[in-house]
Amino acid sequence: TLHETIQQLKGNIRVFVRVRPLLAKEVEEKHSSEHISFENAIDKGIEITREDKKDEKAEFQFDAVFKPDSTQIQIFGEVSQLVRSSLDGYNVTIFAYGQTGSGKTFSMEGPEDVYENDEMQGIIPRSFEFLIDAVEKSAEKGWIYKLEASYLEVYCEELNDLLQGGDKKLKIEGTGSKHINVANLSRHEITSKHQLANLVKRANKRRKTASTNCNERSSRSHSVFILFVSGENTRNGQKVESCLNLVDLAGSERVKESGATGQRFEEAKKINGSLSSLGDVIAALGSKSKHVPYRNSKLTHLLQNSLGGNSKTLMIMHLNPRKLYANESYNTLRFAQKVN
Ligand code: ADP
Ligand code: MG
Repeated sequence: TLHETIQQLKGNIRVFVRVRPLLAKEVEEKHSSEHISFENAIDKGIEITREDKKDEKAEFQFDAVFKPDSTQIQIFGEVSQLVRSSLDGYNVTIFAYGQTGSGKTFSMEGPEDVYENDEMQGIIPRSFEFLIDAVEKSAEKGWIYKLEASYLEVYCEELNDLLQGGDKKLKIEGTGSKHINVANLSRHEITSKHQLANLVKRANKRRKTASTNCNERSSRSHSVFILFVSGENTRNGQKVESCLNLVDLAGSERVKESGATGQRFEEAKKINGSLSSLGDVIAALGSKSKHVPYRNSKLTHLLQNSLGGNSKTLMIMHLNPRKLYANESYNTLRFAQKVN
């Protein structure tokens, strides 16, 4: 198919950009987003005007650009085939990248009341629903699948299981040949959307109790939702095993060294290091470099078997439309360009 041909030509890494709309409050406060333009940029492009650089304009191009009025349904429409390929045995990873408040969690999960509001659901619930549906259909061809979920966070270069109490430390074990290499990570079979909703709620609650301010904590840690797929064809004995990793990354904003002290400063350094390691790994994969520096951060080490090889990777870069953040947005697009 055309899709496959393009895939072969372009490799297995895609980069999308999503610009969220100004929120009601931001409109009220008369914030502007005039520095971002789609009209002047050519197809699938975005142009940003940098006040700090004498209004210099910078144009970027990606595999897809989603304007502020894009819906969750439209985004998933561009993601569903990728998700589908996990049933065929591909490891798939989708990252949400961007500064705090740019809409990463909105894209991955949806707004806070998401499980009461179907239309606003993000990629995690939609992927699950889509796979359940696809699993049902493939039963006609003899396939029986099992879907299991794990949910963990990477905080200050430590892994925490968000679905398991106690203080069992998670440990990454070498590379192995398996799709995941973490000891003690709990797995939970899920068969309904209701169960998924409960798991996600439980995970979010655990994050909340781990800090005084949930939002703050979640903006300084990476959260990794993993859906393990194992399937067997009862007619011909064929087997598949893969995982779908949905990653809500820590906020990419640069914390000014002068402003942050102590714990906060250590956190900031670790986040910056971890995000730039991720960029290095994806750039190395994109340039078909022989050495891919997986071991430089916990996140890339964790996802080692899902990045590269015949795995598929999508980065969704998020922009806060406020002009105040033009420079952060520019940095995000620069990062995106490096991995594209
Ligand atoms: P992040 O996870 O990057 O910190 P959030 O996903 O929490 O950002 O988004 C910040 C705020 O903007 C939230 O109130 C969220 O509901 C809202 N928001 C984000 N993206 C959109 C969007 N595409 N449409 C409407 N509201 C959005
Ligand atoms: Mg968030």
